[in-house]
Amino acid sequence: MNLLHANDRPGEYPQGYYAATAAQLPPAPPLRGEATADCCIIGGGFTGASAALHLAQKGVSVTLLEAQRMGFGASGRNGGQVSGGFNKGGDYLAAKLGTEPAQRLWDMSQEAVTLTRDLITKHAPDAEWTPGVFHAASTRAEAESLLREAEDLQKTFGYDQLSPVSAQDLPSVIASPAYRGGALDTGAAHIHPLRYALGLARAAQLAGARLHERSEVHALKRQGGKWLVQTGKGRVLADQVILACNGYLGGLNRHVAARVMPINNYIAATAPLGDLAQTLLPANAAVADDKFVVNYFRLSSDGRMLFGGGESYGYRFPADIAAKVRKPMTRIFPQLAEVPIDYAWGGTLAITRSRLPLIGEVAPGLLTASGYSGHGVALAGYAGRVLADAAHGDRTDMELLARLPTGPWPGGAGLRSPLLALGMGWFALRDRLGL
Ligand SMILES: Cc1cc2nc3c(=O)[nH]c(=O)nc-3n(C[C@H](O)[C@H](O)[C@H](O)COP(=O)(O)OP(=O)(O)OC[C@H]3O[C@@H](n4cnc5c(N)ncnc54)[C@H](O)[C@@H]3O)c2cc1C
Repeated sequence: MNLLHANDRPGEYPQGYYAATAAQLPPAPPLRGEATADCCIIGGGFTGASAALHLAQKGVSVTLLEAQRMGFGASGRNGGQVSGGFNKGGDYLAAKLGTEPAQRLWDMSQEAVTLTRDLITKHAPDAEWTPGVFHAASTRAEAESLLREAEDLQKTFGYDQLSPVSAQDLPSVIASPAYRGGALDTGAAHIHPLRYALGLARAAQLAGARLHERSEVHALKRQGGKWLVQTGKGRVLADQVILACNGYLGGLNRHVAARVMPINNYIAATAPLGDLAQTLLPANAAVADDKFVVNYFRLSSDGRMLFGGGESYGYRFPADIAAKVRKPMTRIFPQLAEVPIDYAWGGTLAITRSRLPLIGEVAPGLLTASGYSGHGVALAGYAGRVLADAAHGDRTDMELLARLPTGPWPGGAGLRSPLLALGMGWFALRDRLGL
């Protein structure tokens, strides 16, 4: 079973709110016959489309192969939260890599946010860049820890856009009985992700990249010092390859598959809420909470609650995604118990053991970036640019990112999913029991 085919109709976007509110691009032709390129990119999400755009802008000949449609994967389905930082704090990174690299990594994560905003301004102005992400704490201890984190970020990296919100001030950000405080990050933002993905694809095409949709890569091998990339009806011979398949990689590359694990996550969009929308989230900030299976949500521009929550580790999405998401949504907003859900969809993201992305050169001329672990809306487009720089000869940023620790999962590519399901099930149970 392959996640490229397990849950969606071939060549179609999921029937979600994003696909219903984005102007689709004319289909790009499937690859047929023989082609050559300096660089062949596999995967048309934020990582691949950004790499294609930045390489084409440097005058490099680029062919991008996407199995379904551009933005079909996580990039066209996610929660839209654009945040800096990594899933690990500055202390962890400094202990593993040293103080200077940790500072540079923090700066890169902020450059990723700025790059996303700039790319949206230039290529996807309809992607609705909206500032503000609120980190919600469900216990007083967690609220205090967010307060310390805000102080640390200010002290260590000079970041001054994360402000604690006390229990008394919560109603100015969120009307929910589930939280005890939190921190509002005004340097972060939320966006319409599919419009951003399509804007990147269009820009890459205009810059000269050749895009092929409905072109699933089945094999990738070395031939005469080049890479031979094989699809059902064609093949590309390229000097370099950028592997940008994230959670949909399957077994295309064993080194990456052993380190980057797919997991599924779900989102529901309610009917437009009218005045209730502003009552629930008066600051119009996106929210992510502190649960192990994170609840994340925000308002759409037409006043719907877009609520993400619940994940699974097998191949198949549940039959009734709306019912699965309604449970955590109603726990957090009892006001939404009776509100109709107009759209519900699932998506596959990818995580690594350390929850830090796997970025680097995994074989001569084979570059890759994936496993952003729920933190890829800003990082993936940035990693695409970093890989484009590396493919063009400037490897400095890629080499630093390649030092992020990302070991193989126990069980390797074969057994990792059942072992993960066991572990994650236990932590999800702790969430439900409030432990
Ligand atoms: C439900 C959900 C909510 C999320 N919410 C957030 C959030 O709010 N904030 C955040 O920062 N991150 C979030 N993420 C994660 C974020 O969306 C991803 O990290 C990011 O989109 C990864 O981009 P990508 O281009 O690497 O991968 P993808 O967008 O998944 O693209 C990979 C592409 O590769 C193609 N592909 C795979 N195999 C092949 C092949 N053999 N041949 C050709 N093409 C192939 C796929 O069709 C796909 O289009 C979320 C993810 C999900 C699923």
